[in-house]
Amino acid sequence: MPELPEVETLCRQLKTILPGEEILRIEILDARLGTIEGLVGRRVEAVKRRGKFLQICISGGLTAELHLRMSGRLFWQKGGVPPFPSYSRLVIAFPAGTLILIDPRRFATFTVQPVSSAPALVEDPLGGLSARRLREIARTRRRPVKSFLMDQRLIAGIGNIYACEILFAAGIDPRRPSSGLSPAEWRKVAKMSVAILERAVACRGTTVSDWRDLFGCSGTNQDHLAVYARQGEICRRCGGKIERITQGGRGTWFCPSCQQ
Ligand SMILES: [Zn+2]
Repeated sequence: MPELPEVETLCRQLKTILPGEEILRIEILDARLGTIEGLVGRRVEAVKRRGKFLQICISGGLTAELHLRMSGRLFWQKGGVPPFPSYSRLVIAFPAGTLILIDPRRFATFTVQPVSSAPALVEDPLGGLSARRLREIARTRRRPVKSFLMDQRLIAGIGNIYACEILFAAGIDPRRPSSGLSPAEWRKVAKMSVAILERAVACRGTTVSDWRDLFGCSGTNQDHLAVYARQGEICRRCGGKIERITQGGRGTWFCPSCQQ
């Protein structure tokens, strides 16, 4: 599932191509996306990200908003002629090339409206997290700290991979109740969240299954994963063994000796 670094990767890549481009044609290949009207002939003014929503600002005061959900990705194809890749659901043609939404599981959404409907965020980790704010929100919550980091209503865009990696980098056991972390520990979580996510953006995301960037290339952050999907392997920090447990129905990977 694309997390914040993957969406930010697409946002940065789109920024280098789309602003100023005129929308020549839109083809909806999957009726589940609904109708998309009023875009042809308008120009892209800007590309932004709010949480895991990609926003394409269009002349005339419209905003096209894309959420990739489970399996969506974007692909930039030079030239606008078929064949399009398998599982293409939406095609937007520009003079410079064609933007294609590929989405095997078909949960991605694309809407066009005068104003954004993306929810206001409590915190965007790439903007820097406030340790004090995190601690305030967590004070009354007994859920494990890993579930807290993954709660999209509180912090945008941290999914399973990055939650595991952040807690390893911060040296915190993922099973601890969020209300029990000290101010110093929240400072570590805040600092490591930004560091881990920024590195993932610099690596154009983590390709452990099907993630590809706008140009069809794999990310490289999987080469930096310290714990995720490494159960039974050696911890590079202490030489101990990485373990896997299940939390909230998802796998959690951690090092029992490095994470207290
Ligand atoms: Zn270790």
